[in-house]
Amino acid sequence: MDLRKRTWAEISLDNIEHNYRAIRAALPEGCKFLGVVKADAYGHGAVEVSRRLEAAGADYLAVSCLDEAAELRAAGIGTPILILGHTPREYVKELIDLDLTQTVTCEAKAIEYSREAAALGRTLRIHIKVDTGMSRLGFLTAAGHFEQGIENIVSACRQKNLDPEGIYTHFAVSDEPGEDAQTFTRGQFALFLRVIDAVSRAGISFRIRHCANSGAVVNYPETALDMARPGILLYGFGDGGKLGLRPCMRLMTHVSTIKYIDAGLPVSYGGTFLTPRRTRMGVIPIGYADGLFRSLSNKCSFVTESGPAPQRGRICMDMCMIDLTELPGVNLESLIEIFGEKQSAEALAGKAGTISYELLCSVSKRVPRVYVD
Ligand SMILES: *Cc1c(COP(=O)(O)O)cnc(C)c1O
Repeated sequence: MDLRKRTWAEISLDNIEHNYRAIRAALPEGCKFLGVVKADAYGHGAVEVSRRLEAAGADYLAVSCLDEAAELRAAGIGTPILILGHTPREYVKELIDLDLTQTVTCEAKAIEYSREAAALGRTLRIHIKVDTGMSRLGFLTAAGHFEQGIENIVSACRQKNLDPEGIYTHFAVSDEPGEDAQTFTRGQFALFLRVIDAVSRAGISFRIRHCANSGAVVNYPETALDMARPGILLYGFGDGGKLGLRPCMRLMTHVSTIKYIDAGLPVSYGGTFLTPRRTRMGVIPIGYADGLFRSLSNKCSFVTESGPAPQRGRICMDMCMIDLTELPGVNLESLIEIFGEKQSAEALAGKAGTISYELLCSVSKRVPRVYVD
């Protein structure tokens, strides 16, 4: 490994493809597959991951915004792409030129998009987003909002120069254990079906109905409908071991400096760690600007070839310290795994009080992605 890279993320596209196939095998026959590659494919590199998914046969991709979609089109990705978030109406021409599918979350946006598309004499492909309980984006349809919600969806779909190809909703607790989460998720799904049914009675049908995120693919396979929409599963997490998924990112660094520090000396900003004995301290060139959360300071270990090395003192912007006193075999330039194979991203994220998603997509631009297979 070229140590000038200081810290790097090894990405296995073979493992992405393995996960893709494992997820597909868990889906009903004929169910389409949308791979969620927003946030640079959860930090794994959107272009590389999308190329691999396209070659493997994914039917659709999803990103959060126009810039992310444009990056994929510029790289030659031809698979249909759904933009999950908002795009301002000024960009309708670009959406159509790039053959993108735009989410529509309320009637007012449908009207704006329709006007822009009509002025261009062209048609914008859209998916209707229904809010069935996430209380984030989408046409409100819960409880007292149902009738008005249906009316608004029908109106949105009837706007000229829009092609309502799909309709979808998003589950809030499909990955949570417990009966309450089950009841809530089943309620969301039932409401989604009722919405589709009511809209179809007004003569509007959709070619692609979708709602299954990763949690639902694993826990509620009956919600797959026409297309599943997993993200984190592709990157190897969220199946609780059921699908045999493999992690795809290994965050690596190396020991850049070693020094012996006498007992009783404070380490790093704030002096939050005092050496309890003469300590063989390693400095590793990774810090919070690389995506290593400062909240992990003094709370985690990183993995050396001879075992785990406890992290000591505050994690700085560009580096941090690890205790090598018990690991005499670890030397300058020895490799250190932050997470990946021997320490899972999920376990390390847990120590920071967060989830694998956040740890993965926080690995910053400064960290080169190295595709290992
Ligand atoms: C991010 C996202 C997904 C993927 O979620 P996972 O939990 O990673 O499977 C699916 N649908 C929507 C609307 C999303 O925003």
